[in-house]
Amino acid sequence: MKGKENAGANAKRKKRRYRVHPIVRICRIFGTFVLSALMIVIITGSIFATALTIYILNFADTTTTVSLEERTVVSNVTRFFYENPDYDEDDPDSEEYLLYYGMKNPQRKAAWVDLEKVPQHTQDAFVYTEDKRFYTHDGVDFARTVVAILTTLLTSEQQGGSTITQQTIKNITDDNADQGVQAMERKIREIFRAINVEKVYTKPEILEAYLNVVEFGTSEKEIIGVQAAANYYFKKDVSKLNLAESASLAAMLKAPADLNPLENPEANRERLDYSLGQMLENGAISDDEYEKAQKQADKLKVYGDPDFTTVKEENEIPDDQGPTSWFLDAAINQAVDIISEEKGIENEEAEERLRQGGYDIYTTVDIDMQEKLEKEMRDNSNFQSWSFDGDKLMSGFVCVDYTGEVKANVSSRSKKKESRVFNLVSQGMRSPGSCIKPIASYAPALEQDLITYSTLINDTPIKIDADNDGTEEEWPVNYSEYGELGNWSYKNLTAWQMLMRSLNTAPAQLIQQMTPEYSYDFLVEKLDITTLDENFDADYSAMTVGGLTDGLHLQELAAAYTIFGNGGKKYETTYISRIEEADGNVIYEHSDGYKQVISDSTAYVMNKMMQQVVVGSEGTGREAKLNNTVIAAKSGTTSNWVDLNFVACSPDYVSAVWVGFDEWKKIPTGNYQNIAAIWKNIFGEIAENEEHHDFEMPESVTQLRYCTKTGNIANTGCPSEVGYYKVTNIPQTCSGWH
Ligand SMILES: [Zn+2]
Repeated sequence: MKGKENAGANAKRKKRRYRVHPIVRICRIFGTFVLSALMIVIITGSIFATALTIYILNFADTTTTVSLEERTVVSNVTRFFYENPDYDEDDPDSEEYLLYYGMKNPQRKAAWVDLEKVPQHTQDAFVYTEDKRFYTHDGVDFARTVVAILTTLLTSEQQGGSTITQQTIKNITDDNADQGVQAMERKIREIFRAINVEKVYTKPEILEAYLNVVEFGTSEKEIIGVQAAANYYFKKDVSKLNLAESASLAAMLKAPADLNPLENPEANRERLDYSLGQMLENGAISDDEYEKAQKQADKLKVYGDPDFTTVKEENEIPDDQGPTSWFLDAAINQAVDIISEEKGIENEEAEERLRQGGYDIYTTVDIDMQEKLEKEMRDNSNFQSWSFDGDKLMSGFVCVDYTGEVKANVSSRSKKKESRVFNLVSQGMRSPGSCIKPIASYAPALEQDLITYSTLINDTPIKIDADNDGTEEEWPVNYSEYGELGNWSYKNLTAWQMLMRSLNTAPAQLIQQMTPEYSYDFLVEKLDITTLDENFDADYSAMTVGGLTDGLHLQELAAAYTIFGNGGKKYETTYISRIEEADGNVIYEHSDGYKQVISDSTAYVMNKMMQQVVVGSEGTGREAKLNNTVIAAKSGTTSNWVDLNFVACSPDYVSAVWVGFDEWKKIPTGNYQNIAAIWKNIFGEIAENEEHHDFEMPESVTQLRYCTKTGNIANTGCPSEVGYYKVTNIPQTCSGWH
């Protein structure tokens, strides 16, 4: 068997040996090898290419189109405006005044220049130095890109290769990773973005953006944009640059710190010659112009103006605009929140964008009111005997209108010395005390028809386990306006009398009927109170007498009271009416939408009850009584005597004042009543001069006399007083038997 096989094989071999020429055979072997290798290359190549395609397409999908407008208006200032008193939206001549040039960034020196102001030879200098095929490519110069990649790979020397379009994107997006994989990814992203940008914008638009965002800084100074560069290096407007100066600026872009004409004149000159050479070679200048430019370059005078300012005149920032006001601080904080939410970015980044500038922010401030209140708050006589024992009494004041616009915010009694500090009114959390009663108990109870204006309520405690020791006790005590603990009278008092005298028993009974949870939800969901503690504040003490875990922002307390003067509507509270981006795009506008929290009849009856706080002979706010203007108000003393509040609804505004000491120190007895007087000293004059002097009674409310013995509608012969009732819930008529 074996021999036979061998013989056969030998025969075959012989056959081949004679028939196939060795060279052909080598060729065949080689061919097979090449073919196999080729197949392997093709297959692995395909796999690799597919993976690469998927990888790259991933960028195409995730790359948002770059907006040249968003950041190219290189205004280094965000402006805050206020409306002048006669502002008319429909009148184009009607102006809004500047409140503050905010968030200015002194490091950033920039000024926008339109392309038409940039001489042609200056434009050409940049184009032919940086990207000579700019006018013909579609955003990416692939030939240069390949050369750049090979150079980088072979020599590990960074090679530009970016077109003007790509450089513009890099500057606008701050997407500038230059190491490793990130650099690769950035490059790919940039390519897609460049192609997109070229589809959306014209070449002149791209060049204009480029000239305004590109960096000309020295090793020490940040200089952005060709106008700033012309100002700084040559003390000239960009329109006056000669050819050599233009080439000198274009020459430095490759590496500004190393090639700028101020610090490195020789290196700059070398590259300047290259720029002129490129311009000549590409026909942008003639031989004569080239020669002339060389002579200009020999005499190039570079300044480095230390005082240069490049901010456009209309954007000029006064050096001495002082610290931000309390109002502005709160407005800035809100703007940060809005931008952060609108752009889906962190607050830190939103603040950075504000700082970069370009926003016009229209605030809701009433500038006259703000200034007057600041002045009144600084006047010690308005606080009477309130500075004692060397302790400094603190105070905050806020005013909101009935659409939720904050008109004034003053968070201290002294002159504000620093910008952007803690804001008592919008950030502080102090106890509202009894000021919680109208919003947590009386209003929701009246809305549910648990009470009317004159319902008789017995001044008697409820039984709850208030101190959580497992046994029920009688709660809560009343405290008189003079600070002594009052006993329960067990007398019947009308609802408005209970509110007027700020007795604690009636709200406790109402909370018991509605449950603390109900009141808690009412405050959180209907009245937008944000500082309640969900674990501890759905509780009797918190909802009845305002013994909150953390407290309230004074502005949220005031805003909650707006429902009592506007027919029961709750609007979003705001310091800002509109925010515009640099290109005029509006990213925020205060909505005129509202929640109908209580009916207009409930709102008006509550208002009438709260008027008694001021005009009633036993009202806790009677010191606030005005001559010409009706006030519906509530005072709020906390049970531990450390916070005093007064919230007042006048026909056009809700204003609120808080006083207390920094370290939760007790306020001396005898001063509790004065909170209403303090409010009047500060706000009385403004309230007296409001456009309206009384609230309007809606048709859903009727005025009737009620029997003071029963709280029902008076019969003939009943001792009676005037009351106010929802037409949907008028008490029965008294039998007359009492
Ligand atoms: Zn009667």
